Amino acid sequence: MSQNKTFIDFHEALLRLSHRSDFINDNRSRKLAALSELAGQLLQVERVSFWKMNPEDNRIDSEVLFRLGQGHDYHPIVLTAGDNPDYFRALRTARVIDAGNARDDYRTRDFNEKYFKPLGIHSLLDAPIFDGGRLSGVICLEAETPRTWTLPEISFATAIADTVSLINTHEAWIRSQKQLDYVTHYDSLTGLPNLQSCRERIHTLIQKMSRRQDEGFTLLWIDLDRLKAINDGMGAAGGNRVIAEIANRLRNLYLEGRDKLARIGGDEFAMLIRHQGNADLKLDHLVQQIQHAVSDPIVIDDRTLRMTASIGVCQYPRDGLDTEALLRSGEAAMYHAKESGRARMQTFHSDLHSTARSRFALESELRQAISQHTLDVFYQPIIEAGSQAMVATEALVRWNHPQHGWMSPIEFLDVARNAGLMQELGESVLRRVCLDHQEAARRGHDLPTTAINLAAEQIMDDRLPRVVAGMLDEYGINGHQLQFEVTEDAIKGDSKSMQGTLNELVALGCNLSIDDFGTGYSSLSRLKHLPFSRLKIDRSFIRDIPDDADDCAITLSILGLARGLGMQVVGEGVETEEQRQWLTVQGCNLLQGYLFSKPVPIEALLEYSDRRLHSAL
Ligand code: C2E
Ligand code: CA
Ligand code: CA
Repeated sequence: MSQNKTFIDFHEALLRLSHRSDFINDNRSRKLAALSELAGQLLQVERVSFWKMNPEDNRIDSEVLFRLGQGHDYHPIVLTAGDNPDYFRALRTARVIDAGNARDDYRTRDFNEKYFKPLGIHSLLDAPIFDGGRLSGVICLEAETPRTWTLPEISFATAIADTVSLINTHEAWIRSQKQLDYVTHYDSLTGLPNLQSCRERIHTLIQKMSRRQDEGFTLLWIDLDRLKAINDGMGAAGGNRVIAEIANRLRNLYLEGRDKLARIGGDEFAMLIRHQGNADLKLDHLVQQIQHAVSDPIVIDDRTLRMTASIGVCQYPRDGLDTEALLRSGEAAMYHAKESGRARMQTFHSDLHSTARSRFALESELRQAISQHTLDVFYQPIIEAGSQAMVATEALVRWNHPQHGWMSPIEFLDVARNAGLMQELGESVLRRVCLDHQEAARRGHDLPTTAINLAAEQIMDDRLPRVVAGMLDEYGINGHQLQFEVTEDAIKGDSKSMQGTLNELVALGCNLSIDDFGTGYSSLSRLKHLPFSRLKIDRSFIRDIPDDADDCAITLSILGLARGLGMQVVGEGVETEEQRQWLTVQGCNLLQGYLFSKPVPIEALLEYSDRRLHSAL
């Protein structure tokens, strides 16, 4: 096997493991067990162990040992710096210790009598684990025969050490956050999550679901009626007991798709229900169950109370695309329910907000905008990390709607998709980009390569290469001035004709990128057969870098994989200096995001590129 192929296989395996949700959610010890097993199996090494440095930095303790063919062993072993000074010195200074013949190697021969000989070890590959600047442990690969460690093996051991370092950082952070987290996220009366956690949960669900179009969720805003009267009559303590009792009942309700329940205000609760597509059908039943739970008699100090609730209902994505919009819709619906006589349920509809948009009107307006070529395209620079030069741009469609103003594609692509307008829309964007290139050239500007997003509908249409070739010709543009981005999702079908279409685009001189990488689950072996030269790491992985260990680990392994496949990588959605630095250090050589520039109209792009040019001179 070639070294390159081996390298790719190793990193693919690490990528696959670190992508697995059970791995991500496992505790540290099980993560180490899984990593040691992976290394043992893959490199066919008899012993793989993890060791942890003590706080005084003079001793390492074994955490787990994986023995090939025998499984895991947690028997503690201790090695001290006093007994093994050369080894500890090497660990602190070297990136890896690759002692093919460990019994003769000056760094490791201290171990001969007490360790290597009794265990039959001949060869050793150790990669230190650093947390920040501190040496915090080591991964140890021990073979029972002398062996020369290859470059892919050494790089793999380092990648695993890096992964553990990220796990450590994350653990420490979690410990310090737990205490704080309880105070800021829970309500002490009911023990329920509070408004802040509800917000965060909605945000997370939206992040997840914005990538999958068949899923949605319902937000029920439950407001108890007349709690003030109870507080007035029985004192605040009585009111609190009512709230705690109802919280308990709601908590114990079994409802299909039930997600988080939170206390979001004095007498207000929010409940989230996940579902496939539109969930209106089951809504009545759901609300009935909640009303029952609320209205069962409550006995407090010999008094029997019957409560009711006004419930506002809204759905993602129909009634709001972000957390705040959804909460506003839920609240608006709840107020409406209250006004129409309490103990009611009200589903959100657009009349409740004056700003709400009608989908049907939108569809016919969009059809018109496409046919009259009034859709706009904004450009976002893609920057080379080292030189900070703009090396490409991405074309992003925009719609300046007569009433709603500038609309982002997330607001109208769904409408276009449902109306079967994606091909026309795509063609309209392509034409606009070509026109802008032609016009820029005429005015003496040299626009960098522009990446255009292709919808699944477009790459499934085998006429696409002809359409592109026609436009290149019509506007006098060279194929390499255009690139195309295709999402992982769009290429998941295994069609020969799609492969042919992609190859023809490449033959026209256009490079291809895989967009939003990491969100789908592309078969990596397939990637190798498709003509992609670039891979864009999805914004959702970049967002929490460098704080989120899982995201860092995934990004690292994507970078490793891309390197192995000889692909360039673009980090998307870079917003902070920390993200820029981390990505640059990890070798992500192309960056895109608000840190450099938001998507801008062509005029502003030309200015931007002139400014960049001048500052570079
Ligand atoms: P995408 O291809 O992943 O494009 C990047 C999106 O991330 C753009 O949103 C861009 O404005 C946004 N973005 C870039 N940098 C940052 C950042 O630092 N922070 C944040 N928060 N966001 C950033 P936009 O323009 O709203 O486009 C959304 C999606 O719509 C695109 O995601 C793409 O999938 C699709 N799209 C846009 N234009 C077209 C088009 O012409 N054709 C097709 N088929 N799809 C398009
Ligand atoms: Ca894109
Ligand atoms: Ca993207």
